[in-house]
Amino acid sequence: MSIAQNISEIKSKIDINKVKLVAVTKNHSVPAMVEAIAAGITAVGENRVQEMMAKHPEIQAAGKLVEWHLIGHLQTNKVRQAVPLADLIHSVDSEHLAVEIDKTAGKCNKRQDILLQVNVADEDSKFGVELGQALPLAKQISQLDHIRLCGLMTIAPYADDPETLRPVFRELHTLFGELKALNLANTDIKWLSMGMTNDYQVAVEEGANLVRIGTGIFGSRKY
Ligand SMILES: *Cc1c(COP(=O)(O)O)cnc(C)c1O
Repeated sequence: MSIAQNISEIKSKIDINKVKLVAVTKNHSVPAMVEAIAAGITAVGENRVQEMMAKHPEIQAAGKLVEWHLIGHLQTNKVRQAVPLADLIHSVDSEHLAVEIDKTAGKCNKRQDILLQVNVADEDSKFGVELGQALPLAKQISQLDHIRLCGLMTIAPYADDPETLRPVFRELHTLFGELKALNLANTDIKWLSMGMTNDYQVAVEEGANLVRIGTGIFGSRKY
């Protein structure tokens, strides 16, 4: 199936008025991205700052306006390059990183929208703040004037049967409600970023309103 057909198939399975579809373009070419944008994609997700920096001017040169989401782990030494380009950073998981983002955003005269990445399943292999530490971290981050905390993100563990991940998504949705209820300064808690190609339907059923889909749109990645 073509990229456009894949996108319309995904859109037929979610309520596109309520759920934002981010096309994960890591390891996919600029022409593939342009094709996806022509087919209605309004937000792209990249894992690596380097790749985002390389593609950003090319997409602009192609006359394409999209939101850029940084979804991969962000090292503090890449913050300087990431902040000018990223509309939303999904992967903030420490106060140290948030402080760096705040400093850089201040210099850029920008308010940086971010999400907290939560390691719901507490996997050693994954980045993200532990579930129990997420609200304390949100409170610390809410002191930073050049950051706007907009919600939560998680990467669920791999599972052959996505149904088994339902409790993971449900837990993050509960935390999302708790975070919203805190009404912290410098926050606008509106995005619950969870769900990828294999599990997005379960994630949306459990409250996700932003899904990150790569393989389901572009096919498998070649490394
Ligand atoms: C690669 C990636 C995705 C997309 O994964 P697919 O299985 O290809 O849909 C989503 N989120 C993050 C953080 C990723 O790194």
